Order: sequence, then C-alpha cells, then structure tokens
Amino acid sequence: MALLSVVLPAYNEEQNIPNTARVLTELLEENGIDYELIFISDGSRDNTFSEIQKAAAANPKIKGAEFSRNFGKEAGIFAGLELAAGDAVIVMDCDLQHPPQVIPEMWRLWQNGVEVVEGIKSSRGKESLGYRLSAGLFYRIMSRLIKVDMSASSDFKLLDRKVVNVLLGLPERNTFFRALSFWAGFRTETVSYEVQERQFGKSRWSFWSLMKYAVINATSFSTLPLQMVTVMGVVSILFSIVLAIQTLAKFLMGNAVEGFTTVILLILIIGGFLMLSLGVIGHYIARIYEEVKGRPKYIISRVTENVQGQVVGAWKRRE
Ligand code: UDP
Ligand code: MG
Repeated sequence: MALLSVVLPAYNEEQNIPNTARVLTELLEENGIDYELIFISDGSRDNTFSEIQKAAAANPKIKGAEFSRNFGKEAGIFAGLELAAGDAVIVMDCDLQHPPQVIPEMWRLWQNGVEVVEGIKSSRGKESLGYRLSAGLFYRIMSRLIKVDMSASSDFKLLDRKVVNVLLGLPERNTFFRALSFWAGFRTETVSYEVQERQFGKSRWSFWSLMKYAVINATSFSTLPLQMVTVMGVVSILFSIVLAIQTLAKFLMGNAVEGFTTVILLILIIGGFLMLSLGVIGHYIARIYEEVKGRPKYIISRVTENVQGQVVGAWKRRE
C-alpha cells in the first residue's frame, strides 16, 4: 500500500502540534490513506518539540526532529523531505492555514499519475493591509524574475517520490521550495484552496523579513538583476556620448565655463548607479560565498525515538 508522508515545519507552534496531529490523523484514517506525519521543529523556543515527542509516543506514525537553532522554513521543509519515506509527500504549514480537507483530492490526483499537485490560493484569507501590500510586491517581483506566475502559489503541495529525490539531489544551499517544483517540471495539476485563519499563535513574517526573503530568493533564482547592471551601464554610456558632444561643441565655440549644475548632477547620478550596481553584484557574491562554503542547510539536534538512522547531530550530503 502506498505511503503518504506529510511534512510540517513548525516554529514555536506548541499549541498547534497536538491539534494539527489530531485533525490530520482523523482525516487520513477516515480516508483510508496510509500515512506518516513528520514535524520539524525549527529551533523552537517553546515546547514544540516535547509536544511532538508526546504525539509520537501516542502514535508511531508521527515522527519529528528538532533543529539546533532556527534555520528557517525552507530548511524545515528540506529536512522533512529528507526524513520522509513516503511514495508521495505533502508539505503544509502546521498552523492549519492550509486546509487538510484538500489532502484527499491531492492524493487521488497522485493515484491517477500526477507527479506534482500545486496548492493554489483562491483567496488569501484575512491579512493585514501592510502584509498584503508587501506580499503582493514580493510575488510581482518574483513572478517577473522566475517567469512563472507565482502570485497564488504556496508551499502547500504534493510531490511524487521522483520529484522529492530530484529536490534532495540539488546541491545548492539557498533553495526556494515554492519555485523549485515549477522549475523541476513533471506532470503537474493544481488544486485551489482557501487560506484558513491561523489556529493558534501569530504569523512571524514582517515587512522586512519578507523583503529579505524576496532579495535572497530573487538573487538565488535569477541573474536578471546582474543583467540590469549592464543595461544601466549602456544607458549611462549613451547619455554620456550626448553630453560629451554637447560639452565639446560648447568648448569649441568658446563658452565652456557654464555647466556646473550638469557636473553635480552627473556625479550624483553616476555615483548612484555605481553604488547600486556594486550592491547588486555584492548580493550575488554573498550568495556565491554561502554556496561555496557548502555548509549544511540545517543541523538536527534531536529526533523522536521512532526515527531510525544516525540523524542526530549529523547531516549527510546526497551523492
Ligand atoms: N515556520 C518555520 N520556521 C520559521 C518560520 C515559520 O518552520 O522560521 C513555519 C511555521 O511554524 C508555520 C509555517 O512555517 O508552520 C508558516 O509560518 P507562518 O504561519 O508564520 O507564516 P504565514 O502563514 O503567515 O505565511
Ligand atoms: Mg501561517
């Protein structure tokens, strides 16, 4: 019988763990799906991991791991994929904002041979105006850069084992799960869902953390910003040819003292372009630096008793 693994990254979700575990087990058992739940506690500062241990002790199909510190949701997702044994893997938030009722539909699609099922948001649920604006800007930029419409996509997806292995085999450190399933291709179908209200606790994304996420993902997924530097250079050169001709003409006509304003403006404009370009290049160097160091995406400090293998404190690079 085919096994479904559900991967749930969790950061400070002590109240959500028992509730989510109960809702998911009931749903999956009702639908006769053989399952395992994999909770990854992302260096939580509350009792998230002991809640996971409690759930695992009560139900051996629930497994979990704890990171040595907060490594971010991306790392949580990848650790979950690594631990998952299923023939198909679903990744979802553990605050039940991704409605579990969609899971049976995803599972049926997978049984019919679909290899990637993308959860698409039909509405964004209740979010603050600031969040909506910054998320909107973020997705517009990302969609441009990746050339895939990302505005309604989410981390809620089902992946076939083949796709999971492709993602786990990627050598890079800076991953962007949401876009990687598009990048990987495979037979894809979508399932739309309505974003639910968070069960307990609150979202941890602020405007700045979202902007930082946007810049990191943009630079690790696209070299367009680097090409923009070249475009800015070409524009400045064209501009400077026009100005050079004008300046030389004035000089030859004998009235060359004027133009102090032009000089100031040129210094400011060129200085701005130069620093912006250096910044863009700097971002790429930072990404390259991180990749070259080749540090693991995450460090697992503890696992629940039912997790086999030498996982604690270790991290293996896939061959
Ligand atoms: N999360 C995580 N590590 C983090 C931040 C969040 O694993 O550093 C998890 C969190 O526990 C939740 C999911 O990622 O299961 C989505 O986080 P959140 O609900 O805060 O974001 P939102 O739903 O507002 O996008
Ligand atoms: Mg949430």
